Amino acid sequence: MTVVLKDSLDRPLRNLRLSVTDRCNLRCSYCMPEPEYVWLPREDILHFEEIETLVDVFTTLGVDKVRLTGGEPLLRRNLPDLIQRLAARPAIRDLAMTTNGVLLAANAQAIRDAGLHRLTVSLDTLRPQRFRDLTRYDELNRVLEGIDAAAPLFSGLKIDTVVIRGVNDDELIELLEFGRRYGAEVRFIEYMDVGGATHWSMSRVLPRREMLTRLEEHYGPITPVVEQSSAPADRYRLSDGMTFGIISSTTEPFCDSCDRSRLTADGLWYLCLYASHGTDLRRPLRSGASADRDVGGTQRPRRRRTPRRTRSRTADSGGAAEEGSTPRDAYEGWLDSVSSVHRTRP
Ligand code: SAM
Ligand code: SF4
Repeated sequence: MTVVLKDSLDRPLRNLRLSVTDRCNLRCSYCMPEPEYVWLPREDILHFEEIETLVDVFTTLGVDKVRLTGGEPLLRRNLPDLIQRLAARPAIRDLAMTTNGVLLAANAQAIRDAGLHRLTVSLDTLRPQRFRDLTRYDELNRVLEGIDAAAPLFSGLKIDTVVIRGVNDDELIELLEFGRRYGAEVRFIEYMDVGGATHWSMSRVLPRREMLTRLEEHYGPITPVVEQSSAPADRYRLSDGMTFGIISSTTEPFCDSCDRSRLTADGLWYLCLYASHGTDLRRPLRSGASADRDVGGTQRPRRRRTPRRTRSRTADSGGAAEEGSTPRDAYEGWLDSVSSVHRTRP
């Protein structure tokens, strides 16, 4: 019998966002607005074997969709190797990745060959100066080359655009038409308040309603696509048949149907993108692993967490295992310790 992990609102957590690095090669104003960041110490980052072990635990608890993310996931060394390991697991029905596309041209074939099922590329503007202003880097051409390389390899490629009023809200049509050329579905994301120094304000959010009105003025009637889905995007169809999505997490949050939890590159597990408190899975993993097999770093003293980005994160011990216990004990420990989560049998 499958055990399904549910949160306190009884939502099954089938979808795991797996951050493989906290580093990034862009500095998007809405995400990492500062020029410099203190990155996680290398030894804190989960090894591939540790990621596999945790993913196996999650899949036994009902997770069947995994999305690789970051930071920028293509900065993680040997990423195709991790993709291959995860793609070999039949329990993962859907293995996807979101990338900023800067390193995509060089990696598209390798990640496809490794078995990645689906790909999303973030692209907020088609204008070089605007791209530079938004990200601090002059990399638009490389992103476009990346999309050019990836589109033939990944059918159903998606392009995600964060829409910010007064910044790129005049490009909705250009971006949709760009997606059309590649057979890619564009998804417009409402600018979200992720805290820190991003200077978010409601006045900079272009609400879904307004996006639709502007697009209807150009394209004529737009109809919602009726479907049962836990995907964050609501999909729409233009009268010529082209579809696009809107992720309205700010004006119309979809918490009721959200099935995502996320694991950071250093093994903190969060039940929500907005959560400020995560459960440390690395500690029980490393302490518990010593009895069964070496997954590295078990005996190393734990470094104090360096403040990262502009947000503060907290973690509980996640039910750290006793020295000498097995990984299984450790997982049982952290599972029991997550007070807001309970297991149910369907
Ligand atoms: N670096 C990769 C990328 O940019 O695609 C993957 C990680 S990035 C955090 C994942 C997605 O989060 C991107 O599509 C990005 O645009 C989106 N995102 C980040 N900050 C956001 C914000 N404040 N509001 C809305 N979307 C945001
Ligand atoms: Fe980097 Fe992605 Fe954040 Fe932009 S949105 S700074 S590309 S992690």
